[in-house]
Amino acid sequence: MITIEDIRKAREAIAGVTKYTPVLTSKTLTERSGVEVYIKGEHLQTTGSFKIRGATNKVKKAFREGARHVIAASSGNHGQAVAFVAKTLGMKATVVVPENAAKAKVDAIRNYGAEIIYCGTTSHERIERAKSIATEDGAVFIPPYDDPLIMAGQGTTGLEILEQVPDVSAIYVPVGGGGLISGVLTAVKESRPNVKVIGVEPELANDTQLSLKKGEPVTIAATETIADGLRTNKPGELTFPVLQKYLDDLVLVSEEEIKAALRFALERMKQLIEPSGCVSLAAVMKHKSYVPNEKVVALASGGNASLSQLGKWLEVEAHI
Ligand SMILES: *Cc1c(COP(=O)(O)O)cnc(C)c1O
Repeated sequence: MITIEDIRKAREAIAGVTKYTPVLTSKTLTERSGVEVYIKGEHLQTTGSFKIRGATNKVKKAFREGARHVIAASSGNHGQAVAFVAKTLGMKATVVVPENAAKAKVDAIRNYGAEIIYCGTTSHERIERAKSIATEDGAVFIPPYDDPLIMAGQGTTGLEILEQVPDVSAIYVPVGGGGLISGVLTAVKESRPNVKVIGVEPELANDTQLSLKKGEPVTIAATETIADGLRTNKPGELTFPVLQKYLDDLVLVSEEEIKAALRFALERMKQLIEPSGCVSLAAVMKHKSYVPNEKVVALASGGNASLSQLGKWLEVEAHI
């Protein structure tokens, strides 16, 4: 398992590439929810999501060890992050994306200079292809979450939150494969164990909730939640034990609740937070039973939303 020392080292390694993102507040949200709400703005991070933290930590290590070519299998934020870091270091990047990948996403990855390879429609097919290219070309495969350097890099978000909101009582974190939350859990629980860390999943992608209940990773069927960064259908082998050890609670949010949070962020806070990044805000918006003056952080994990779908998502009113 990773330790807080790994996260401190990651922090030094990634400084200069990643941003120390701001923490935002919303008076409306604080008044209506009865808790002081802070939003850690990873939607304002370089490449638009926290994924750049882990990717930078892992790709830089590969570079120091002599690698000059990295490969990832992701049409989303991880693909963009790997492409960006590789470009920064003057390395070659290849990103394997599904045949039906959205053009806007592929263009974003290509704009960072990566070579795109289309392959199949399942993540299994893409990962196999990426790994075989890695073997043939001597490239280093960069996994999206199940890797100690990736987890440690994502955990640097946790160190920043503890500095920015020193008397925080609870942190809500989106859960996909668990790279982000396992890093945040390690950073928080190994320095401030009384701070609660709560995972958030869409109701439609509750693989981690089911896995925690069963005591081992379980696989769910493919899901269509609008939170596309959280569609992973099984927790990671390295990330899951960290959740089992440290996680305080896991809550689920509906598609309607995610849309309401997205609309609130955009309309009231003027912030574009993508659906995956809104689940933490959605969870805070429906948790109103805390004692007054309690400080709660919602980790807004990313902001790369499909603008063509935004209109459909905004049909939901933002009642809070
Ligand atoms: C990848 C991603 C997540 C999920 O992170 P994991 O490390 O897979 O749990 C959440 N939000 C956004 C915006 C992402 O890109």
